[in-house]
Amino acid sequence: MQWINDLKELLFPRYCKVCRRRLMQSEQHLCINCLLDLPRTHYEREPNNLLMQHLMEWPEVIRATAYFYYYKEGKYSSLIHHLKYYDHPEVGTYLGRLAATELKASGFFDGIDLIIPVPLSKKKQRQRGYNQCDYIARGISEITGIIICTDCIERSINTDTQTAKGRIERWKNTEGIFRITNAETLKGKHILLLDDVATTGATLHACISTLLTVPGVRVSVFALAKAT
Ligand SMILES: [Zn+2]
Repeated sequence: MQWINDLKELLFPRYCKVCRRRLMQSEQHLCINCLLDLPRTHYEREPNNLLMQHLMEWPEVIRATAYFYYYKEGKYSSLIHHLKYYDHPEVGTYLGRLAATELKASGFFDGIDLIIPVPLSKKKQRQRGYNQCDYIARGISEITGIIICTDCIERSINTDTQTAKGRIERWKNTEGIFRITNAETLKGKHILLLDDVATTGATLHACISTLLTVPGVRVSVFALAKAT
């Protein structure tokens, strides 16, 4: 009933997670202006995009895209902060839904059998209470119907926090951090590996090289954001 919604908006006003303007009833998380101005990469129109260039060494990597650009000081970085640090994983589902709706017509999801969100270490997941990538995956799955597998691969060593380390150090540090836990499900599949923010690509590299140890696996990559 409309009056109940009106009352709810009055008692619990919602604000845009980017510009803090008060949201209208039809808006979710982002106001219409911030939604239109979201710095989309449109990588799906560019098969040889910047993210794909990092992954070209593997012929088994089919496609790669990121939904929007992440600038550290940019106003849209607040979306990632809400998702990862302020306990709002539902923002991930919302953005996943949005990205999938916009990307679907490009054929980006065609032929993909399952979605694998990049896992966090057990310790990190316990601390945060959730894996933000699982929530993004839910949004994509809702729109595309592709199933999610969260028990096919695990992060065996706690190497989540690498911010202070240099690039070379990071690469060394990501060797052998993932482990396949359900090879049967993965065999012969085209997997969509999903990350929140692609930075150096080190985590994706480590994850892909582990996934490719399973026979017949092909991988495509979706990152919610590409750090610049
Ligand atoms: Zn806004």
